[in-house]
Amino acid sequence: MSPVSGTSVSSASTGCVAFKAACPDCSARFELDAAALRLVIGGSRRTTFYSFTCPRCGASVRKPAGERIVELLTGGGVSTLRSV
Ligand SMILES: [Zn+2]
Repeated sequence: MSPVSGTSVSSASTGCVAFKAACPDCSARFELDAAALRLVIGGSRRTTFYSFTCPRCGASVRKPAGERIVELLTGGGVSTLRSV
């Protein structure tokens, strides 16, 4: 019997996790790494969002972040701010 390889999740070890995003201004679609995203966790769902700058048109994009997205972003190493 040989040891089973590839059973561990290693996507986060290299820091190369890419998040797909789209810009509502120029409707460009692109992938962002964790450093390009910022997550803000507020006291309610309305104040919990993630933001990034569109690499194509430079617009500041802010989108609501549900629980699943919050988990995804924090797990991917996105810097998190807590707003009051
Ligand atoms: Zn754009």
